[in-house]
Amino acid sequence: VDKICLSDAVIVFDLDDTLYFEADYVRSGIRFVFEFVSTELEQDLPEKLLEELLGGEQELPAGDWLQRLLADGNVQSSKESLLWLYRLHPPKIQLESSTSEFLAWLRERCPIMIVTDGRVVTQTLKLNALGLKNVPHLISEQYQSEKPDERRFKLIMQQYPNKSEFLYVGDNLKKDFVAPNRLGWTTIGLLPNPRMVHRSATGEEMPTVNRPTVWINHLTDAKDYLKE
Ligand SMILES: [Mg+2]
Repeated sequence: VDKICLSDAVIVFDLDDTLYFEADYVRSGIRFVFEFVSTELEQDLPEKLLEELLGGEQELPAGDWLQRLLADGNVQSSKESLLWLYRLHPPKIQLESSTSEFLAWLRERCPIMIVTDGRVVTQTLKLNALGLKNVPHLISEQYQSEKPDERRFKLIMQQYPNKSEFLYVGDNLKKDFVAPNRLGWTTIGLLPNPRMVHRSATGEEMPTVNRPTVWINHLTDAKDYLKE
């Protein structure tokens, strides 16, 4: 692949498991809900249960954490209520310093944007916590369009008629790269990492349209495909 000239480019990022690890968001939510149940609902919860739900350094939080909290903690509240508490909690998450430095470096050279799927309230709370609220972002709920639908990618192209190179950086083979590939973008995929929630294989079995133009190990390796 030829290196892309930054002055011609618009670089668009996925959010979850691309700019930060989604597992950190999940852990933040589990802590918040656990704390709420103990403090506000005044229910005795064993600290050991929290440890189990969070998972260790090398493992992901328990997928059924809410179920287990309700059952093992004997919590007097509905699953639905606690799920909303989770979705609306102000997350304690942050960008890795290499990521924020990379984004700052890019922003001096080309427009950057975020295309993410999810609820406006939840994704906005994440963006704010990560210090990304000033990066233009298109959240699926607001546009009534989820990946792999092309709508938001087309809007970005219309917004920058004088740019010739569009890049999308993501992690999810099922949905991230289909629309930008169809529209002739360069797509960059983050290789699966044990800390990611949705770990896809590199997708040899997937149709070409699902697969990124190039794979990278770490976000900042995207620099290898860019030139000033
Ligand atoms: Mg993702």
